[in-house]
Amino acid sequence: MLTASDCDRLRECAGVGCGWFFLDFSRNRSRRWCDMEDCGNRAKANRHYDRKQKK
Ligand SMILES: [Zn+2]
Repeated sequence: MLTASDCDRLRECAGVGCGWFFLDFSRNRSRRWCDMEDCGNRAKANRHYDRKQKK
């Protein structure tokens, strides 16, 4: 069960096409992805790719 404080930490993953929800237990709530190793890395790779494409 989720408590009210847990709901406050519920966030949607910023990963493109992911849409996963996760609980952000980081101290400053700066977490953006459900999995840093997966969506986090993919987001960084995409950003790098976009920058290259525009030039
Ligand atoms: Zn994700």
